[in-house]
Amino acid sequence: MRLVLVGPPGAGKGTQAEFIAEHFAIPKISTGDIFRSNVSGGTELGRLAKKYMDAGDLVPDEVTNAMVRDRLAQDDAVEGFLLDGFPRNVLQARELDGIMASLDRSLSVVLDLEVDHDEVVRRLSGRRTCKQCGHVWHVEYDPTTRPDVCDKCGGALYHRDDDYPDTVRHRLEVYSAQTSPLVQFYDGRGQLVSIDALGTVEDVTERAIAALA
Ligand code: ADP
Ligand code: ADP
Ligand code: ADP
Repeated sequence: MRLVLVGPPGAGKGTQAEFIAEHFAIPKISTGDIFRSNVSGGTELGRLAKKYMDAGDLVPDEVTNAMVRDRLAQDDAVEGFLLDGFPRNVLQARELDGIMASLDRSLSVVLDLEVDHDEVVRRLSGRRTCKQCGHVWHVEYDPTTRPDVCDKCGGALYHRDDDYPDTVRHRLEVYSAQTSPLVQFYDGRGQLVSIDALGTVEDVTERAIAALA
């Protein structure tokens, strides 16, 4: 299965990606996670990406596309993958077509997670991310046993710099201007499957797996 997840920031892509990738035994490739680990690791890629991420803007396509091209060429992605956070505009979608063509493969399906604006704001404002393993929690919807300590790995949780209200607002504008056209792009090709992403994490996982079966 070669799967792409789309949906606004806070839709639950990263949360669902973990379960879906495990269910289908495919690697989860999250461009946001790759950028964040490069930022915290102080790499050249991280230095390039940081100012865009902090502002809630997209990292330039040439940087992002090269990173994804390299990642999809790795051995573990040959049989399938789940892309979370890429493509994020139509040019990146065309790049993905080119990558697939050059590897003699094609996308299986694009899964669109539908949530309303207010819920996205609630999800993002309460999101807490583990510094160590990257797992996401939520202060109300999915709290940890001890405050600010990851139940999975014991790492420290932090509130992402881009999850504060002004940047959230801007990221949602970026989503509607640049990313939401992908819904029509893939729908027009008959590759889109949309699901209702409201409800508990478990409900949404069930809907996703049923839609993909
Ligand atoms: P995305 O990757 O689309 O930005 P995340 O998976 O990081 O979204 O989810 C955003 C926040 O919402 C996280 O804090 C997560 O714990 C929480 N969340 C995810 N799915 C649900 C859900 N179905 N119900 C309530 N909260 C959720
Ligand atoms: P969310 O799911 O909450 O929107 P991500 O973790 O996917 O956030 O992305 C965080 C930031 O990383 C984005 O705001 C953007 O700056 C950068 N980023 C991630 N994926 C891409 C991409 N495909 N193209 C450009 N920038 C990206
Ligand atoms: P320290 O002060 O020891 O560096 P903190 O937990 O106080 O650690 O983190 C400071 C800030 O750095 C956090 O609020 C967060 O915004 C940012 N940060 C921490 N880890 C990461 C990461 N992996 N990616 C991006 N930003 C991070």
